Amino acid sequence: MKGDGMTFTNRKTQAGWNLENTYKQLSESFYSTIDPNPVADPELVLLNEPLAKELGLDPASLSEDVLGGNEMPEGAASIAQAYAGHQFGHLTMLGDGRALMIGEQITPAGKRVDVQLKGSGRTPYSRGGDGRATLGPMLREYIMSEAMHHLGIPTSRSLAVVTTGEQVRRETEWPGAILTRVASSHLRVGTFQYARQLGEEAVKQLADYAIDRHFPEVNESNDRYITFFEKVVERQAELIAKWQLTGFIHGVMNTDNMTISGETIDYGPCAFMDTYDPKTVFSSIDTQGRYSYGNQPGIGEWNLARLAEALLPLFADDQEEAVKKAEHSLSKFAKEYKKHWLSGMRSKLGLFGEEAQDEPIIEDLLGIMEKHEADFTNTFRQLTLGNKTEMDGRVDFDQWRKQWEIRLERQQQSEQEIEKLMRRSNPSIIPRNHRVEEALEAAVSKEDMKGVRELLAVLADPYAYTPEQEPYTKLPEPTGTPYRTFCGT
Ligand code: AMP
Ligand code: MG
Repeated sequence: MKGDGMTFTNRKTQAGWNLENTYKQLSESFYSTIDPNPVADPELVLLNEPLAKELGLDPASLSEDVLGGNEMPEGAASIAQAYAGHQFGHLTMLGDGRALMIGEQITPAGKRVDVQLKGSGRTPYSRGGDGRATLGPMLREYIMSEAMHHLGIPTSRSLAVVTTGEQVRRETEWPGAILTRVASSHLRVGTFQYARQLGEEAVKQLADYAIDRHFPEVNESNDRYITFFEKVVERQAELIAKWQLTGFIHGVMNTDNMTISGETIDYGPCAFMDTYDPKTVFSSIDTQGRYSYGNQPGIGEWNLARLAEALLPLFADDQEEAVKKAEHSLSKFAKEYKKHWLSGMRSKLGLFGEEAQDEPIIEDLLGIMEKHEADFTNTFRQLTLGNKTEMDGRVDFDQWRKQWEIRLERQQQSEQEIEKLMRRSNPSIIPRNHRVEEALEAAVSKEDMKGVRELLAVLADPYAYTPEQEPYTKLPEPTGTPYRTFCGT
């Protein structure tokens, strides 16, 4: 630790930090111990009080110096993790280039979560980057990740955003900021790809660590590594089904951005789809549409195949047998995904039980929505409320509605029960791109956080169907230019 004016006080009793560092039990090749990188003037802009309390932290005592990386709480480790990753299909050695892990907080409920400062300065993995982040994208990650959480989708969380009092140069200068990210771990598919480069022992060590941390039940299995792999397959299949069911487009599904825990991570270029179109892409760098909405399940499976490759030596001594086992386990992805997607779509349409025609009813609706360029969220919202959609009056949609109503009438459940299921399954609101941009613009150029706070408030219960949510269901005025997102940092 540096001695240049920084203090490392014990804030445990004050703020409630209760940190451990089990990641440091791994071989030193997995991380670099780094000195915190002080910033000029950390100032708190957003604090997630409910999350702080869940973590056992006292919101009032959380110091800006800790959240800005100037001061380490007692028990902090300050490391950057090493990992590799297939970025748009090409394997690269990476690592936390601008993040500092301060430790694993043990929550009052006994849960272990990583606490990481994102935008905290250069690390040995920064390559050409400055290690910093700017206010707009860090507020955007906060909004998107918290929206995902409240939609019921597993995700990393956002505890706080502080400005650093420093300017950060991108295409122009922006206020610097640090996001405190909380995740059940930052183990990625790419961490295993990195381990594979180190050798079989490292892969084994990492797999054992991941099992203990996320899937302790695997310790009972007599084929632990294949069982572990299948658990990850199941979690990711369920996660990606949830993305599809809400129209979430991750935008940069590189293997380094895919977790072992099954949480959504890395909120750079993500966005929610308005008009239903499987080809939808928002990311400015995804020119080939590799990570389009419709491709997400396939890419998920592709990424898991890279995880299987990394784990291969643990599956069996004989290479051919190992490959066979991996292929068998990976083939479960498509089935699991389909199971979750189908059951989610049934719920969105208020269908109880399972009938053979359900899938054609679902597919027909999606086909009609695509043809008429219907809004994804609002279509299901209107169906939930028993209102007309923008497609009513069209012959194909009217026919579809009849089929759907016949199917609804065949089931025993009452209208109220059906509506209840649909309200639970169809969010009234999502973070609409134009609303997010509007709020960020005011926050960054006018230091006006009102829009961000209001947006966060309505997104805290997306299934509430309150009158306050009504304005947030409105679509943007057509601009003629498609919405673009950036890995923009
Ligand atoms: P991402 O596209 O956000 O997944 O980032 C890919 C890699 O680039 C990760 O290893 C990041 O840590 C690194 N990175 C992104 N932005 C910066 C930056 N400004 N300085 C250093 N490293 C960065
Ligand atoms: Mg990343």
